[in-house]
Amino acid sequence: MAKLPHKDTHETQLARLILALRSQGVTEPAVLGAIETTPRPLFTQDLFKDRAFEDSALPIACGQTISQPFIVGLMTQALRVDKRDRVLEIGTGSGYQTTILSKLSRLVYTVERYRTLMRDAEERFKTLGLTNVITRFGDGGEGWPEQAPFDRIMVTAAASDEPKALLAQLKPGGVLVAPIGKGPVQSLRRYTGDGKGGFVIEALTDVRFVPLLDGVAKEL
Ligand code: SAH
Repeated sequence: MAKLPHKDTHETQLARLILALRSQGVTEPAVLGAIETTPRPLFTQDLFKDRAFEDSALPIACGQTISQPFIVGLMTQALRVDKRDRVLEIGTGSGYQTTILSKLSRLVYTVERYRTLMRDAEERFKTLGLTNVITRFGDGGEGWPEQAPFDRIMVTAAASDEPKALLAQLKPGGVLVAPIGKGPVQSLRRYTGDGKGGFVIEALTDVRFVPLLDGVAKEL
């Protein structure tokens, strides 16, 4: 008898995703736990809800993307976040990465240049009952000087060059993770403060992010 095609439950799909991340080197239990407890379908458009547990980037509003879960896991793990940390995130997008950071740190400040994306993300934070996320509509390239310095900074849009303004808002010994490069493929870099005003710079892998753009977006 022919087997009927069946749809895996969300639990099965999620378990498979976590296994895939683990096999690719995302092994930190706290990071995997945060991913496991963050419902990715909440952050995707209706058209793509079926694919929310796939390990791929998906389109969101305003021509932007929700990152691939593996890259979210890799970047979160690379950031070495501590429960006591104040974290700055540039590029809120869907708010998926923000939510994961909020589970691993004390406070997340997140900046987005599309008002629509910011509002949608704020709704999701409310739905999830997150109380340690502070949002700002603005140009994240300038960071958030009023709230600086930060223990950790994550940039989820590609900076064309070394993000000097952001590095200046990092605490001594802090960590910044960002995709750096002008083309369609960028280098994911980790900057770790050496405590003497300099940084140890590591190239982690190649990534594809939307660009970090100047100013706020004009929307109709
Ligand atoms: N972390 C997001 C991925 C977002 S894609 C997620 O998990 O869904 C990158 C986001 O960076 C886009 O929403 C884009 O609008 C935003 N962005 C690009 N340049 C920016 C800037 N200068 N300031 C703030 N946000 C910016």
